[in-house]
Amino acid sequence: MLSSSENIEKLISELANLPGVGRKSAGRLAYHIANTPKEKIDSLISAIKNVSENIKRCKTCFTLSDGDICNICANENRNKKQIMVVENERDLLAYENVGEYKGVYHVLGGALSPLTGIGPNELKIKELMMRLKDDIEEVIIATNSSVEGETTATYLAKLIKPLNIKVTRIASGVPVGGDIENIDEVTLLRAFNGRLTL
Ligand code: ZN
Repeated sequence: MLSSSENIEKLISELANLPGVGRKSAGRLAYHIANTPKEKIDSLISAIKNVSENIKRCKTCFTLSDGDICNICANENRNKKQIMVVENERDLLAYENVGEYKGVYHVLGGALSPLTGIGPNELKIKELMMRLKDDIEEVIIATNSSVEGETTATYLAKLIKPLNIKVTRIASGVPVGGDIENIDEVTLLRAFNGRLTL
């Protein structure tokens, strides 16, 4: 045991399992929690429980949602004829934070990666193709600029182009190998506005 209390040590180990949290920040968080009034911590606990027990995937775009349809898909002001394809819900959030995009999304659940056994059937590609049976004007492929993201973009462009739907790819601004969720808003906006037709 490294800290002064077995209970705190247990909390540190749990927190250190979270992505991006090392043992040092886990320790800082654990001591902060130990010094915070119980009511405040109760509301944190219930927020975590709520997400863990009640969150599901939107039946249309597959992002995380409280109900069967997410707030974005249910919003009448969003352009349903423009679909931005992203790898995961964190990338969707990055674009939402920019606030420029008024279309809807499609969350693939990852990117094609033959080496790790992620093929088209592991991603929500069939579901995307189903959506394209509606009157869709543009599909914006906003997968990461990693090898997997580029492979996925090429694969999707090949599938979609025969349907006579405009296919664009986010362009300059996204560094090669860069993760969309870690890119600042200005760069992301430039990438979005500079998208190219595939
Ligand atoms: Zn949705």
